[in-house]
Amino acid sequence: MYSLSGKRVWVAGHRGMVGSAIVRRLASEGCEVLTASRGDADLRNQAETTAWIEKNRPDAVFLAAAKVGGILANDTYPADFLYDNLMIEANIIHGAHKAGVEKLMFLGSSCIYPKFAPQPITEDALLTGPLEPTNAWYAIAKIAGIKLCDAYRKQHGADFISGMPTNLYGPGDNFDLNSSHVMPALIRKAHEAKCAGAPSIAVWGTGTPRREFLHVDDCADACIHLMKNHSAPGHVNIGSGEDVTILELTQMVCDAVGFTGAIEHDLTKPDGTPRKLMSADRLRTMGWAPRIDLRDGIAAVYRWFLDNKA
Ligand code: GDP
Repeated sequence: MYSLSGKRVWVAGHRGMVGSAIVRRLASEGCEVLTASRGDADLRNQAETTAWIEKNRPDAVFLAAAKVGGILANDTYPADFLYDNLMIEANIIHGAHKAGVEKLMFLGSSCIYPKFAPQPITEDALLTGPLEPTNAWYAIAKIAGIKLCDAYRKQHGADFISGMPTNLYGPGDNFDLNSSHVMPALIRKAHEAKCAGAPSIAVWGTGTPRREFLHVDDCADACIHLMKNHSAPGHVNIGSGEDVTILELTQMVCDAVGFTGAIEHDLTKPDGTPRKLMSADRLRTMGWAPRIDLRDGIAAVYRWFLDNKA
C-alpha cells in the first residue's frame, strides 16, 4: 500500500477534466497538490518539463496531461494527437524517473484497444489487432505511454503504473461541437434545440455504436485507489462495465435536458468503432466500483453546463 498522506503530489494536466477531478479528490488525502501552469512549463518541451520536475520535486505524479478530443478532432489533427502526446508522456515519465519520483500513474483511454477486440475488452487484448483508424494516432501515443511505464519498471524498478479510463464525462468537459466527445455535444445540442424551440437535433452517425461512460469523479476515485493499492506492469481498465447505444444515450440526455423533439441522424459523420466496452473485472477484484449512476451523472453535468456555459 502506498500512502499519499504528507506527500508532494503533482497532477500533470490539472486544468483538464480528469486532472481537475483528481485535484478535487486529493483534497481528502492529506497531501500537498502541485500543479504546473502552461506558463511554468510546456510539457511538450523536455528541458522545461525536466527543469520544473527538478525544481518542484514531487513524490508522486498523476500523468493526466494530454491532447484530447473527439472523433472529428482526432481524425483532423493526427500529427498533433501523436506528437503532443508522445512528447508529454516521454518528458514526464523520463523526468520523473531521473528525479526519483516514488510513484507515477499514467492515464490513457480505452481507444488503445483493437477495433474488433472481443467485448467486454480485457486488459490482455492490447496489441492483438488493428486499431480504429479515426483515433489510431492518439491510441499509438497512449500505448507508448503504457510501455514507457513498463520499461522504466523493468529496467530501473520504477513504480510506474497505468490506468485506462473508458469514455469519461463530467464538469469541465469540452462543449465545443467540433472537438468534443459525444456526451457534452449531445447536452449542448439538446439544450440549444430546447431553447430555440427547434423540432429536432442531429446525432452523428447511425446511433447504433455502443459506448461505456464513467463520471470523471468516479474515475478520479479509481485513480487514487490504484495509486494506493496497485503496483504491477501493464495497465488496468477504469470503467463502469456497462454500455449503451448512442441513441439510448441521446434519449437519456434529452430526458435530462427536457428536450422533446425528434432525433435525426447526420450520416456524413463517422460512427467510429462499433462497440467499446471494457471489462471492469480487474479493478473490481481490487475492491473498487463506481458510485455515480449514468442518469444521475448526466443530470449533474447538465446543471454544471447551465451554471458555466457562459
Ligand atoms: P469515440 O468514442 O472515440 O468514437 O468518440 P466520440 O465520443 O466523439 O463519439 C462516440 C460516438 O458518438 C460516435 O459513434 C459518434 O459518431 C457519435 N456521436 C453522435 N453525435 C455526436 C456528436 O455530436 N459529437 C460527437 N463527438 N460524437 C457524436
